[in-house]
Amino acid sequence: MNLPPMLGADTEVACVGGRMVRYANLDNAASTPVMADVWDAVEAFVPWYSSVHRGSGFKSQVATAEFEGAREDVAAFVGARPTDEVVFVRNTTEAINVLAAALPAGTRVLSTMVEHHANMLPWRRHDVRLLPPASTAEALVDAAEAALLGGRIDLVAVTGASNVTGELVPVTELATLAHRHGAQLFVDAAQLAPHRPIDMARSGIDLLALSGHKLYAPFGSGALVGRVPAAGEPLLAGGGAIRLVTLDDVIWADAPDRYEAGSPNVIGVVALAAACRALTALGMDAVEAHERSLAVRLWTGLSGVPGLEQLTLWPRGTVDRVGVATFNLAGYRDPLLAAILSAEHAIGVRHGCFCAHPLMTHLLAVPEAESRRLHAELRAGRHPQLPGAVRASLGLGTTADDVDRLVRALHEIARHGPRSEYVHVPERDEYRPAEAGRFAA
Ligand code: PMP
Repeated sequence: MNLPPMLGADTEVACVGGRMVRYANLDNAASTPVMADVWDAVEAFVPWYSSVHRGSGFKSQVATAEFEGAREDVAAFVGARPTDEVVFVRNTTEAINVLAAALPAGTRVLSTMVEHHANMLPWRRHDVRLLPPASTAEALVDAAEAALLGGRIDLVAVTGASNVTGELVPVTELATLAHRHGAQLFVDAAQLAPHRPIDMARSGIDLLALSGHKLYAPFGSGALVGRVPAAGEPLLAGGGAIRLVTLDDVIWADAPDRYEAGSPNVIGVVALAAACRALTALGMDAVEAHERSLAVRLWTGLSGVPGLEQLTLWPRGTVDRVGVATFNLAGYRDPLLAAILSAEHAIGVRHGCFCAHPLMTHLLAVPEAESRRLHAELRAGRHPQLPGAVRASLGLGTTADDVDRLVRALHEIARHGPRSEYVHVPERDEYRPAEAGRFAA
């Protein structure tokens, strides 16, 4: 496969001692770089940038056509049904909040304790039941079935791929089950969409959310796609979402406008559509195959590092996974290990709890008493050191050299320790190289 060029792929950064080293971005699960095709599309559009929807000028009409046409590109990318809506939002978090607000009060939601907070907190306004972490993917499906049999559920809400372990949730099975019991399936596809083909129609996904900034289009747009409630309460009230406002009444517009109050992020939407087109042209099957070989290289490499423990929810090799590895190295707190990788090896990773506190508490087997202590400390406004891990995540800009550099760096750290001294910055619970210069605290 011809890999799509990414902006900034050759950027060098300073390491301790002043060495300049090519930056290895292994933090794609947080945000991906900009795909050159996306940037080109944005540049081509910018001269035409104008207000959308209500402008009568020529540029407004061009901009409106681009904005509205973008819905088709996003819909095609995820295999949406012709009747599905595409609502443009800022990101996955906003998409889920828009959906949660649009559903009738008291909607019965079945979800899990291993979700990203974005797919957990918005449901708390409804009647939500969380399944505990399952020991296998099959056990998750069984638990969902038992819950669906046990009482009426309106919506099953799960992640498509975990942002912590990369493990894929069996969404097709869950869709079939949900439908059998009169429920709909919502999939948080923030981590799935960049790495696997999605066919909503075929797999039975009713609703889905994704973020452009994880899809090589980091300009602040995302989408909620699917069977969006026709007459739901809009999360945001304002212009553009209405048909008529009187002093004591509002006639809301139909979806998608109903859920897009305010002036939209036109450039962001143009970028997101360009990313969807570029990835579709590349072929998501080819993307999957390419990334899988890098992921296997990563997981295999990491498994040879002494003292390194990789975190997964389910037994390794039992489910498909996107290219994510979350791990701890004996003797190193996660913020220290991440700091060493950055300062000495120019490798960008993420550390902490990855916006999934209940999942990380489970994966790290944090004792109940320790969880309670940390909770109390935080409640009291103090800053305890939280448990966490380091995450390396791959994308289309990742090279085999990036993966090998991470593995080599971890071997070096495990065997010989860091090359520099580090100081702890307690307010931020971060570590900085003691050496003065660009890294001085
Ligand atoms: N769900 C998952 C699985 C994620 O990984 C993320 C981002 N880390 C989100 C939701 C939230 O995405 P965003 O920050 O773009 O709203």
